[in-house]
Amino acid sequence: MEIMGIRIPTIVKDNVAVRCDGCLEVIDGSPWRLNVLDVVAAETPVSWAGRPAINPGPFQFHRDAAHVRTWMAKRGWLFCRRGEIREIMRPIPIPGDEPRLALCDGIHRDDHELIPA
Ligand SMILES: [Zn+2]
Ligand SMILES: [Zn+2]
Repeated sequence: MEIMGIRIPTIVKDNVAVRCDGCLEVIDGSPWRLNVLDVVAAETPVSWAGRPAINPGPFQFHRDAAHVRTWMAKRGWLFCRRGEIREIMRPIPIPGDEPRLALCDGIHRDDHELIPA
């Protein structure tokens, strides 16, 4: 708007820019939010000390699954290609020398097919 020749900016941009957890660039518009569910309890209860701590999010991304895959790849996580990147992902603990996680949307009923993100 303009009052007596002086432009008054009425829309003040929020200074707190939301950054994409994948490419670390500022997200213009509404971010894609992703939450990671808790690891499903194993056959024996795991003590709090032995429980891998997962930050459940929400993590925020550009509206592009590739950015989520970038973020997973940086963490060394795997992606189940039977599913898709969705707002809520289920973690699959992968045992090994270096325990890591795979993420799956948990919707398909057959076996997971894990590939590097
Ligand atoms: Zn991004
Ligand atoms: Zn799966």
